[in-house]
Amino acid sequence: MKSIDIEKTFKSIGMKKDGHFLLASGLHSATYFEKFRILEHPEFLVPVCEQIKEKFGSTDFLTVAGPTLGGVVIAYEVAKQFNKRCIFAEKTPEGLAFLRGFKIEKGEKILVVDDVLTTGGSVFKTIDAVNKNGGVVAGVAVLVDRSENPIDFKAPFFAVYKAPTKNYSPDDCPLCKQGIELVKPGGK
Ligand SMILES: [Zn+2]
Repeated sequence: MKSIDIEKTFKSIGMKKDGHFLLASGLHSATYFEKFRILEHPEFLVPVCEQIKEKFGSTDFLTVAGPTLGGVVIAYEVAKQFNKRCIFAEKTPEGLAFLRGFKIEKGEKILVVDDVLTTGGSVFKTIDAVNKNGGVVAGVAVLVDRSENPIDFKAPFFAVYKAPTKNYSPDDCPLCKQGIELVKPGGK
């Protein structure tokens, strides 16, 4: 699957939406990537994750870790392709943590995966959880990187699809000023 096919696929399944959106980060944007449109289609998610496998094929790691919610599905698929273990980090009052008896050995190398990267918040929290448990991040992979500026995770980074997208703070959002209705995607 080449990158042009990914763009077409994302459009055809309605993963990329235009409007005025409140992102999980609290920022506003004219573009929203609805990750669940790809997570519900294994026939598209599998080839997208194959690109992550290709990129990190020669990287030494034992386990794939992702944050809830979308990261669970991606971590599972990537781990399956590599024939590695899959764990996931969940929200706690302090950030993200590996619950449910997930163990990380001291020095265990971990590939961190996530769905859509905006400010890097959930990836950084997953990295913190790996580090707190004595693990070492061997790489970071996401399906979509919509960050405006490159984010340094201090580990090799790969995005299957790069779409630098402008985000606005709520006080300085041109879409708010135009009176366009703000939509909070997801949930419901
Ligand atoms: Zn706005």
